Amino acid sequence: MTLPETEKMPALFVGHGSPMNAIEDNIFSRAWLKAGKALPKPHAVLCISAHWFLRGTFVHGAERPKTLHDFVGFPQALFEQTYPCPGFPSGAEEIRRTVKTTRVGLDAEWGLDHGAWVVLKRLFPKADVPAFQMSIDSTKPPKFHYGLGQELSPLRRRGVLILASGNIVHNLKMMAEEQDAMPFSWAQEFDAIARNSMRRGDHGNVIAYGKLGEAASLAVPSPEHFLPLLYALGLQEEGERPAFFAEGFAYSSISMRSFRLG
Ligand code: ZN
Repeated sequence: MTLPETEKMPALFVGHGSPMNAIEDNIFSRAWLKAGKALPKPHAVLCISAHWFLRGTFVHGAERPKTLHDFVGFPQALFEQTYPCPGFPSGAEEIRRTVKTTRVGLDAEWGLDHGAWVVLKRLFPKADVPAFQMSIDSTKPPKFHYGLGQELSPLRRRGVLILASGNIVHNLKMMAEEQDAMPFSWAQEFDAIARNSMRRGDHGNVIAYGKLGEAASLAVPSPEHFLPLLYALGLQEEGERPAFFAEGFAYSSISMRSFRLG
């Protein structure tokens, strides 16, 4: 590692939900603001977001990452939002050098997608902390992502705060119209299974989520929002347990559960 050694940085998993959480004042955006205030100031934030999900693992090494408005059908006010933080090219290079289990490509096209900047805007509203992103390889099994999280853990002692951003329960086809509509029972059931497994430190149960029955197949109809959780759990060190700072559901079928490690 060539980045200077620091005290250990926390790692976060944030259930990001709707991009409107960037500008809407609600219980979730307030919880993120509060969690942000409690964080030490890192040298940089590495974001692993559900919305950069493609064939291969890439890191984005730009000096000035673009704010990506990778959504449709939202108010103009949301498209006008930017998150003008610096990038962290040396962090991207560091990851390429240190990750041994897979090839990490360098990307010049991406920026910060809404899974990253919507949350960063609340955690670090001044946009004064450099941020960069790593993609999620859509061709790999859950175990791979957990292992890659473990492999990234030395970065926590190099001033890098890792933010994994997805949703433990994410079923857009079954979404209710109202944000505060009652959650589905299967959504509550699966969220509770994940929470309890994490409380016990039973990561094996979370990695094998595909075997958890009907609630799991409704909660995770496609893997991209769930897989960031496995990166966060891979980063968990001996003696750490998730401290949940947001929980509950949006639109009946999205779990907003979020936690901090360390
Ligand atoms: Zn999303």
